[in-house]
Amino acid sequence: MGLLDGKNALVFGVANDHSIAWGIARALHEHGARVGLSSVESLLEKRVRPLAASIGSTFVEPCDVRDDDAVRAVFDRWGAEVGGLDILVHALAFANRDDLDGAFVETSRAGFALALDVSAYSLVALAREARPHLRPGASIVTLTYYGAEKVVAHYNVMGVAKAALEACVRYLAVDLGPAGVRVNAISAGPVRTLAAQGIAGFRTMYGSFRDVAPLRSNITIEDVAGTAVWLASDLARQVTGEVVHVDGGFNVLGVPTPEG
Ligand code: NAP
Repeated sequence: MGLLDGKNALVFGVANDHSIAWGIARALHEHGARVGLSSVESLLEKRVRPLAASIGSTFVEPCDVRDDDAVRAVFDRWGAEVGGLDILVHALAFANRDDLDGAFVETSRAGFALALDVSAYSLVALAREARPHLRPGASIVTLTYYGAEKVVAHYNVMGVAKAALEACVRYLAVDLGPAGVRVNAISAGPVRTLAAQGIAGFRTMYGSFRDVAPLRSNITIEDVAGTAVWLASDLARQVTGEVVHVDGGFNVLGVPTPEG
């Protein structure tokens, strides 16, 4: 018996097999969920469809989350093809590369709006359009990072976007709670993905993470996926509005040094 038997899951944000979204999609499938994928159109045929096929998934839809019509179209198609939705995973973010280096004070108005739109507002848009399909007991999970809580060098506008995203999680949890829908975030430690490579200094930060994190190891997509499976399952039925850290304990450190 799988933990997620009988549940339907839709996962946004697979770019390739290193994506956190892919780690989660694969784990949801392994635990018994039926999984559909959505990603930006340019990645669909070459990258996403072969991954979907490997977990027996035929629902693969394009979506640029900045476009309300595109978001609506994915859920219309979901309703027509699959029906109810039990697990919605939002694992995507974007900021201009220029805004992930240099001084935060230099962030442009357009760059700020873009980062907040793609990385935070999109969760609201997905939750709203998913609503007619979400069944009681459903779970929405998004991905955030410690740069929402504390200043992390180079994370800049993305830290502000993640702070907004975490606030969205709490407001959505209150809105959707009476319908039996839970909304939570996973705050993952650094994982080597395409998006992470766009952050200046990521390699150095990734390299030193395992020397200071209390559990003395780097974070993998499987680590993040394990917590996503738990949040998606009925085991987490009274957990909502939370930010769960999957970071080997890094966030509890006052001054991160190998001595702790
Ligand atoms: P990833 O594999 O590069 O995935 C990010 C995805 O977001 C990509 O598929 C990307 O597509 C998509 N995306 C960007 N703009 C979009 C848009 N307008 N519409 C639809 N999709 C869009 O990187 P990842 O690290 O797994 O990121 C997943 C989530 O985890 C993000 O929210 C990230 O902030 C979060 N996170 C990552 C880490 C880490 O260290 N990697 C740590 C904590 C949290 P394109 O490739 O076309 O841009």
